[in-house]
Amino acid sequence: MMRLAHLLDGLRCSCCGACDVLWLDPVRGIVECHECGQKATVIVDGLGPADLLDPLGAWDGDR
Ligand SMILES: [Zn+2]
Repeated sequence: MMRLAHLLDGLRCSCCGACDVLWLDPVRGIVECHECGQKATVIVDGLGPADLLDPLGAWDGDR
């Protein structure tokens, strides 16, 4: 099955600082950095691009 990942153009990885390396996978609800391998979990609906840059675990115990 094809993976419907989208390149998050113009965004910067909050972990390694590289630009244009973040891919959004809406099926699994993650953003992955192809530069450093950092993954971030996201809730796709209703969030803007800035909300996609938090590293994995950023929301633990926060809500
Ligand atoms: Zn990175």
